[in-house]
Amino acid sequence: MNISIREKDRFKVIDTPEHKDITILGSTGSIGTSTLDLISRNPEKYSVKALTANSNVEALAKQAIAHNAEMAVIADQDKYSDLKEALHGHNIIAAAGSEALNEAADTSADWVMSSIVGAAGLKPTLTAIRRGATIALANKECLVCAGEFMMQQVEDCGATILPVDSEHNAIFQIFDFDEPEKIEKVTLTASGGPFWNKDIADMQYITPVEAIKHPNWSMGVKISVDSATMMNKGLELIEAYYMFPIEKEQLDIIIHPESIIHSMVSYIDGSVLAQLGTPDMRTPISYTLGWPHRMNAPSKKLDLTEIGQLNFIRPDKVKFPAINITREVLQKGGSAPTILNASNEIAVKAFLEGQIDFLDITKVVEKALDTIKIHQMTCLNDVHDVDENTRIVTGEIVEGLKK
Ligand code: NDP
Repeated sequence: MNISIREKDRFKVIDTPEHKDITILGSTGSIGTSTLDLISRNPEKYSVKALTANSNVEALAKQAIAHNAEMAVIADQDKYSDLKEALHGHNIIAAAGSEALNEAADTSADWVMSSIVGAAGLKPTLTAIRRGATIALANKECLVCAGEFMMQQVEDCGATILPVDSEHNAIFQIFDFDEPEKIEKVTLTASGGPFWNKDIADMQYITPVEAIKHPNWSMGVKISVDSATMMNKGLELIEAYYMFPIEKEQLDIIIHPESIIHSMVSYIDGSVLAQLGTPDMRTPISYTLGWPHRMNAPSKKLDLTEIGQLNFIRPDKVKFPAINITREVLQKGGSAPTILNASNEIAVKAFLEGQIDFLDITKVVEKALDTIKIHQMTCLNDVHDVDENTRIVTGEIVEGLKK
């Protein structure tokens, strides 16, 4: 990996217009709706170009009408006529399918929110990158499955990536990009999800309803399960590695159940800088939306006296094997992160559908990593091939475990 592509130029301050045209890929999700909430509070500053969803026509049409969008795209082709009907009488272009999704990403918006969940977000995000767009990146899976290629494209095409994930957004705010060599360590904080202090003996029978009930954050179902297995933190470790000029060994993870400190950067002089705030994604999203300027966000303001105490715990590696798995994957490199991401997506889906137990999720991922040969990847087509093959192999592994 060429170190230069992980340097501060990635976050170069562009000539930001007073008024921004916005596209949101995945507008009907948790991140998408929080983004639209911020936009609706500042109508004089933002206009909506394109909004996209997978299958939720009703929510998409409602958003497109409320925000006077130019274009609304539904990924599920079969939902095209429903969308057209829902937008009847409004001057909004309705479109469907993966090509239309790319068209939405290709529209000349000043700022693109990449908030589709999973590797499905990779193609449209790359389309936005290739036109040199400014992209607020929430979709961590695309960096995990295609990090090197994606960041190379960012450099080649002069795109700008702004980190939305609260931990990476925190690092972005406190990282000294002028002297990265003065940084000793970057610590990603983890809420630990709903089960960090649960006995492992009680974890086998965790239900999907329990797993998606996050104690601090309100999020989509997939990331909520990832948070419960702590795979989310593993994915974030990989995300941080690709985003910032930092070595793998300098990345640390600690559980901080209050989710007030969103990450920390330790410097060689013993100083540790942290970014704090109440757990509300509208704060990090606003930082990227207003960037390079701060803007008002409606998140509850932090009152430390109200919280009283902040706790920090080392993650239990037996209860949460995902962290070690992702560290090994980062060491192996090549196709390993792509296999990790795709197998995790399949395993989480199987758990949510009641096919496998909670503790099986990471076992399935481990099995996929052991079964599929890891090799070097030379182009993006390799990423697609590995992703596709992993989904097939993982499906077979799940089949063997089905309850
Ligand atoms: P949600 O599940 O709430 O929303 C996902 C969005 O993507 C929806 O708009 C959904 O459409 C759309 N979508 C799903 N599958 C596809 C597909 N195959 N093709 C096109 N569009 C699709 O997810 P979140 O908002 O929680 O998360 C989005 C991303 O942001 C994830 O990568 C997550 O890890 C990351 N993130 C989320 C945080 C959070 O607080 N939620 C925090 C940090 C990162 P539809 O509604 O029609 O299904």
